Amino acid sequence: MVDVTSLRNRIKTVFQLRRSLSIVWRYAAGWTAVNAVLVFIQGLFPVAAFYLMKQIVDTVTIYIDSPGQENQNYSWLMLWVVLAALVALFAALSRSFGEYTSSAQSLTLSDKVADLLHEKSHSVDLAYYENPSYYDTLHRAQEEAPFRLPRIVEGLIEIARSVTALLGIVVLMFSFSGFLVLGLFVATIPVAVIRLLYSQKSFELDRAQTEPERKAWYYHSILTDMAEAKEVRVFNLGRLLRERFQLLKKTMREERLELLRSRVVLDMIAQLLDVLALFGSIVWIVSMTINGKSTLGELVAFYLAFQGGLSYMQAAFYAFADVYEDNLFLSNLHEFLGIEPEITRPENPHPVPGTMRKGVEFKDLVFTYPGNNRPALKGIDLTLSPGEVIAIVGDNGSGKTTLVKLLCRLYDPSAGKITADDLDLKRFDPAEWRKKISVVFQDYAHYALTVQENIWFGNIDRPPDADSMKEVAYRSGAASFIKKLPYAYDTELGRWFTDGHELSIGEWQKLAIARTFWRDADIFVFDEPSSSLDPIAEAQLLENFRSLLKGKSAILISHRFSTIRMADCVYVMKEGEIVEKGTHEDLLENNGHYAELYRTQAKHYESPERQE
Ligand code: ADP
Repeated sequence: MVDVTSLRNRIKTVFQLRRSLSIVWRYAAGWTAVNAVLVFIQGLFPVAAFYLMKQIVDTVTIYIDSPGQENQNYSWLMLWVVLAALVALFAALSRSFGEYTSSAQSLTLSDKVADLLHEKSHSVDLAYYENPSYYDTLHRAQEEAPFRLPRIVEGLIEIARSVTALLGIVVLMFSFSGFLVLGLFVATIPVAVIRLLYSQKSFELDRAQTEPERKAWYYHSILTDMAEAKEVRVFNLGRLLRERFQLLKKTMREERLELLRSRVVLDMIAQLLDVLALFGSIVWIVSMTINGKSTLGELVAFYLAFQGGLSYMQAAFYAFADVYEDNLFLSNLHEFLGIEPEITRPENPHPVPGTMRKGVEFKDLVFTYPGNNRPALKGIDLTLSPGEVIAIVGDNGSGKTTLVKLLCRLYDPSAGKITADDLDLKRFDPAEWRKKISVVFQDYAHYALTVQENIWFGNIDRPPDADSMKEVAYRSGAASFIKKLPYAYDTELGRWFTDGHELSIGEWQKLAIARTFWRDADIFVFDEPSSSLDPIAEAQLLENFRSLLKGKSAILISHRFSTIRMADCVYVMKEGEIVEKGTHEDLLENNGHYAELYRTQAKHYESPERQE
């Protein structure tokens, strides 16, 4: 039995095209309009062609049957033939032009969809990046949307084109026999229903396979990306990863093939109906002609019209099923575009204080990562006064980096707050607040672009003039190796592109520090700033650290006591809490966790004689 509700829902889905069409219209209105006009024109050609064919055959019949009137019949015949040729010519021309316009529309839309995806990926909260379902949604949106969006328009155009052509043909055929029109429906509807049904199944399978598909893609990237290439070779992981990839693909392939198999069986039955209807109609037309109820011209024209009608009917129903499927898949795009960031600009943001008087304060702050049940930060009270340099020390996983992420408003606290001159950070436009801060993260970016761009990205509002660039490169210690590069500041970096020049990790780190200094920030954050620097480079950086900061505040996260000891105040973290606070000397004297960390590190530097 046909499930009426689900049928109704399916038809509804096809007509819920507003969101997709509004994207199409917004980004490719011109091409869409041209396509629509072409479709209308193309829809008129087939009827004209069938009519002219009927006239040609009937005129030929009269020509043969009426000797003595050759001249008059000949002129008519020529007129019909020339008209038929012109119709064929214009149909071909409009088809070729139509191919160009729909390609132009498709290409334009694909690029725009990519831009929409980029815009959304950039605006969502960082928290989404840590949620696998974000990647599933993004994966589905980017896999399908770029080609489905133009296709939905093509599908609608196809429906319009086929229905226009079909209407003419149906009117023409009705004048001959209603039986033939019925034959058209019997031949096409079962195939269309099967398509509709399997679109839904295919969509559901695709959603179910998103995660294994991404996993397979992940194995592929480990096998082919530069980042893991060294380890994959040294640890000989190639075979294992290939096998895992193949296993995932095999399972997914079998599921897909099983779906296809059941569809093919049903399709065959439907095709059988199609053929029966076609041949039944031929028998009908021939018997009508033999019984003298129609002319030879009508026989030819109606046979052609029936065949044409059949293919337009099929095209219309298939396009309908395709639009349904495309629309289902585009729900993935809309789902992705519908993600709303939580960290947004307030309606009336408070201006960020120009020069801070009191500085930044963390007040009884608690933070738990989404999906975690243990807080990463608990009861944090911390002050960073203007011009002050503080250090944060602690074991791995004690919450140091999380604290910086909250300062940058990449996350908001679960409880408590962060203030700048007593104003809650939530009152500011996050983009304006971030202009105050410059950070070198532990996992800083390696941009496979020029040296200059790697520095300039720290503040793209500032023109990249050569002298200022040299000055920050000098401050970060990057100037000396940049000078030796083949094109100095214009050298392309990384191994992505032909002229790329690879740097050492320490050199990349110096560039990241230069990028930080390029920003006119009030607060500088250095998360393990010298982890990859050699002792001389580290000493150079730290020696003039305060003058490099030019009186601005800084947060130093480090395990190196050479770095830590220069801070005005040291905060010691353990399991998400601040357990001690004071100067290096005070903390040593307290003989607490800090002193323990210090002694453990110092022990490795002392000579065996001194340890005794
Ligand atoms: P630290 O910088 O002191 O090494 P982090 O601030 O990076 O430590 O991490 C603190 C805790 O938060 C750790 O237990 C870590 O597992 C957890 N954590 C860090 N990042 C995330 C994240 N994106 N999602 C969930 N938990 C996280």
